[in-house]
Amino acid sequence: MIIQDWWYTTLLAQQYPVAPPLMSDIKADVLIVGGGMAGVSAAASFIGSSLKVVILERNIIGGSSTGRSAGFLTPDSELELSQLIRRFGMDGAREIWEVPCRGIDLIRQRAADYSIDCDLIRQDSMFLGIGASGAEDVTDEFNTRAMLGFQSTHYEASQIEQVFGGEGYSGAVRYAETYGINALQFVQGMKRALIEAGIEIHESTEVHRIEGHVAFTHAGSVTADQIIVASDKTTKAVSPYADEVFHAQTFLSISEPLSDQEIRQLFPSGDHLQCWDSTLVYTYFRLTGDNRLLLGGGSAWTTFLPEYYDRATIINRVIRDFKKRFPFLSGVSFIQFWPGLIDSTRDLLPVVVRDSDAPYRHYVMGCVGLPWASFSGDFVGRAIQGKNEPDEARYYEYFTDRRPFFLPTWTERVAGKPIVFALNNSWAKYRQVDKDRLVKPRPNEF
Ligand SMILES: Cc1cc2nc3c(=O)[nH]c(=O)nc-3n(C[C@H](O)[C@H](O)[C@H](O)COP(=O)(O)OP(=O)(O)OC[C@H]3O[C@@H](n4cnc5c(N)ncnc54)[C@H](O)[C@@H]3O)c2cc1C
Repeated sequence: MIIQDWWYTTLLAQQYPVAPPLMSDIKADVLIVGGGMAGVSAAASFIGSSLKVVILERNIIGGSSTGRSAGFLTPDSELELSQLIRRFGMDGAREIWEVPCRGIDLIRQRAADYSIDCDLIRQDSMFLGIGASGAEDVTDEFNTRAMLGFQSTHYEASQIEQVFGGEGYSGAVRYAETYGINALQFVQGMKRALIEAGIEIHESTEVHRIEGHVAFTHAGSVTADQIIVASDKTTKAVSPYADEVFHAQTFLSISEPLSDQEIRQLFPSGDHLQCWDSTLVYTYFRLTGDNRLLLGGGSAWTTFLPEYYDRATIINRVIRDFKKRFPFLSGVSFIQFWPGLIDSTRDLLPVVVRDSDAPYRHYVMGCVGLPWASFSGDFVGRAIQGKNEPDEARYYEYFTDRRPFFLPTWTERVAGKPIVFALNNSWAKYRQVDKDRLVKPRPNEF
């Protein structure tokens, strides 16, 4: 097994336009820093406007988290529905759940509008319980969904084999309207659509600092009326909110294509599901359109490491444990693996901020999940154009950096980011109760 991101391998079969580095000083109406799902989604909201929009991306479009992701398009992220209800109550949970749902709709709509070939496939989600507590988690998720009027199917341990060939699961809940996607192909396809729509993109162009209306790169600069920062692993020279964001590490691997018989054993009913289990550092898997098994997972000790851990040790263990549950797949080889650092905030919801001191600067940071990034980028792009509905201002209230957190950012200087984020993340998932939209806006903020 070699270390190589499978999604990059799939790019070899396609031709996308080149977006050369920025080599001069230019002006724009809107500058977007970072061309992941959030930045691309923000840019797409300007298609058809007369504004001059520029994207600066330090890698290729989608070259960080977006292009490393497993491509599960589901509203479930690190926060389950039941956890959102505990934090925000029924109405709040419903409003927040709408964010990833709208994010998924946007991705699907744009893939259709711009005919993007990105392996977008309908795959029901299957949340699998492990052990007695896992069975409780699954039942809890099923009941919570029912309470909010969301359709899903509950499987007792003995019923799982109807749809799924794994051994030793204690229950499952399944629901529809979720998809698998090759997110790198999606944003690269969007790159083509954006360029055709007149949006200027510069890849291999890192923004070193932003001062006032100007973003500086090694060989040029962009002076813009409005600036959207949608970058990851950010420094304070680019975003004053850099302390709000850290990351969690996970690993992915891809197999050679499964045989028809292996697929029938894996999904006996013929429905290909995207699955994850109930353990804290969970294992997740789905089939790609060409029937490869995409398998991911991690370990407690690598989750909050500051840097990439690029050895195969962890993913080899994930593969070994997976094969114990699926003995009929013991002969399948995994050919590539890659690590990924998922940016997140302390409470696992994004930070979406308009700087009240410099209201021409907008920040989208710490989106845990492609759908969240898709919605948040579009939301900020529409806000700049005055296209948001008045009641959407609530999302600024939910996602302000001034919302209450368990441990404040200054504790990072004492205890270090990994510890502060580990504690805050656990608190947000298992204990936190938020007063519904407590934070009121400052002038110019929303
Ligand atoms: C291994 C892995 C698996 C995942 N699996 C899933 C999944 O199955 N489903 C799901 O929904 N989510 C998944 N995620 C999470 C998902 O990928 C992210 O939540 C999402 O891609 C965030 O999008 P973004 O645009 O906010 O960030 P990014 O995609 O990280 O985009 C930020 C961009 O900014 C650029 N940038 C940073 N600094 C600068 C600078 N100074 N100048 C210019 N450009 C800069 C970066 O190069 C990058 O392209 C996964 C993530 C990883 C790592």
